[in-house]
Amino acid sequence: MKTPSKANGSQAATKPNWIATSSKKMEAELVAKYGEPQRARVQRGLHQVSEFWRTEDGDAGVFEDFVRTNFAGDAAALDTMFNRYQRLLEQLDGHMHEINREFSQQSDLDAGAVLAFDEIFAGYDPSAHVVDDFFANKLAFIVLLNFPLTTLDQRLHDGPSWSRRQWAEARLAQRFDKRIPADVNLAISQATAEAGQYIAQYNIWMHHVIDAQGQRLFPPKMRLLSHWNLRDEIKADYADAQNGLAKQRTIQQVMERIVTQTIPEVVVDNPGVDWNPYSNEVKPAAEKDADATKSEPISDAREPDTRYATLLKTYLASRQADPYSPTAPTLIDRRFDEDREIPEARVKAMLEQILTSPLVVQTAQLIQSRLGRPLEPFDVWYNGFRPGSKYSEAELDEMVSRKYPTPEAYQKDIPNLLMKLGFAPDRAQYVASNIIVDPARGSGHAMGAEMRSAKAHLRTRVEKTGMNYKGFNIAVHEMGHNVEQTFSLNDIDYTLLQGVPNTAFTEALAFVFQGHDLELLGLPAPDARAQAEKTLNDFWGTYEIAGVGLVDMGVWHWMYDHPQATPKQLNDATVQIAKDIWNRYYAPVFHEKDVVLLGIYSHMIDALLYLPDYSLGHMIAFQIEEQMKKAGAIGPEFERMAKMGRVTPDLWMENATGKPVGPEALLEATQKALAANSQK
Ligand SMILES: [Zn+2]
Repeated sequence: MKTPSKANGSQAATKPNWIATSSKKMEAELVAKYGEPQRARVQRGLHQVSEFWRTEDGDAGVFEDFVRTNFAGDAAALDTMFNRYQRLLEQLDGHMHEINREFSQQSDLDAGAVLAFDEIFAGYDPSAHVVDDFFANKLAFIVLLNFPLTTLDQRLHDGPSWSRRQWAEARLAQRFDKRIPADVNLAISQATAEAGQYIAQYNIWMHHVIDAQGQRLFPPKMRLLSHWNLRDEIKADYADAQNGLAKQRTIQQVMERIVTQTIPEVVVDNPGVDWNPYSNEVKPAAEKDADATKSEPISDAREPDTRYATLLKTYLASRQADPYSPTAPTLIDRRFDEDREIPEARVKAMLEQILTSPLVVQTAQLIQSRLGRPLEPFDVWYNGFRPGSKYSEAELDEMVSRKYPTPEAYQKDIPNLLMKLGFAPDRAQYVASNIIVDPARGSGHAMGAEMRSAKAHLRTRVEKTGMNYKGFNIAVHEMGHNVEQTFSLNDIDYTLLQGVPNTAFTEALAFVFQGHDLELLGLPAPDARAQAEKTLNDFWGTYEIAGVGLVDMGVWHWMYDHPQATPKQLNDATVQIAKDIWNRYYAPVFHEKDVVLLGIYSHMIDALLYLPDYSLGHMIAFQIEEQMKKAGAIGPEFERMAKMGRVTPDLWMENATGKPVGPEALLEATQKALAANSQK
């Protein structure tokens, strides 16, 4: 499963040549001083320090003095060191975060114009150089000399029997498990920023996409960003009884042209040309709805693999970090072993469990019967599973705006809302006192604190006429984040374990709150039918994105296996991988082979192997939701879960639900939803 690093050079090559001799000498000296039982710790510490020590950190004399001075040779010294590091790092993280929060306040809050310099403040990160500084002043080396670096394997196999203090020590050491030179980090951020730019400008002007008869199916000025808006237009077109199907087929054709890079370069983000994506013919625009953006001659010359050249650059930049990350020496390892902390083989198995579930065929049959036609490939984005509501959006808006005319009104009501969710009055008051409500410029977000003396911020959108239902629904979600953030920082035993294993967990907890928003308004909970529809919608979405995740994984392995590849070769390989995954898991359902749609996601180009997270997120959300249902009252269960902190996802989930992370809860809920549907 692991692709070995093919990166040039290795850490060992740059190691000072005296370091092995000095380490031997210091091992003997420290064991003589602190006793034989310390030998294993001494050896480990010396190995960890020498792994990162560079010539500019000092000569043999400096190294030996450093080790002599900073090795904590007994339990009391180690306790003191641990406690002070924990306290001071909380202060560092907390204050850095406060600076970031203040600096981005003008752009985050509804507080008047954002001036040019405000944007520079918002983009500045004072903590960017902390790890470099800590290696330079040797605070990082002191951690490496005294606390254990761990592999994911150790955290998975030994972690469940570690004490909480051992977990906190492991997280402390992990802060310094790589020492990536500033120019390498810069190269990575430049490559991903460039990829982000490429993605952000990839618009298709839909009024200029014409069919074989020269008809324009889409309205003037409609400009869709790939892939998000193209996909969402496919979803919206289910409601268009007249032209929906033709539109959906056309968009599929556009997407395939993008993936294969047979799209004419001149049509990208250009309303100056008309394009028939079936014949691939390009002509000057016969209708004008916006000014042409390109002056180059109109031709059907294809985009010259720019999509894959851009992806390749992010790979080449990421690979430069490999030699400086000894416990996770490829980007694939860093994503799975460090960010997700679930081994790649297990993630793959979970995705395949969804993709090969017999429930897929049953759900597909249900969709087919609702559509009244055989499925077509774009139906991976079917969106007809809808909970429905007894109340219109306008009625809900009316209720919400009366209740919450201002952000302050919402702030005041938080303890009451939390009690409705089953929190005891004192816990509700306590959490509410740790949340500050601010008026958001955008739709809303939650910003937790990073030190106990600071508070979590709930940013919510309130119109002049008061909060509307959409804003309330989002505010309830963000409040879920804030409650998690408060418990997992303020009520945890070690601040080094602050937080949750990864974003999927905090999102799952926030969804629990959001799913009860109607009850918080005093309305009845969604009924069984609405819940079944929501489950089927989530299941179908997971089925779709699981294949996309496998394509992303396959492409990154291919790049590591072919480090000299050209953009054209990467194009061919990606198309083949997308077809293979489609043929294995989707062709049996859609009865069409060699479809390349799974390669359309923009994240594949700029997000460095992020796509498998979506499926994991759905699975985790169902596991937590199911546990909440079992427990009855949300409040105490939520608090119990959130206080586990940042251990591995499996250990967190074992503690929360008795089982590791897995798709079973989602599959069970889907089975029930399908059964309920067939009984109607
Ligand atoms: Zn969220």
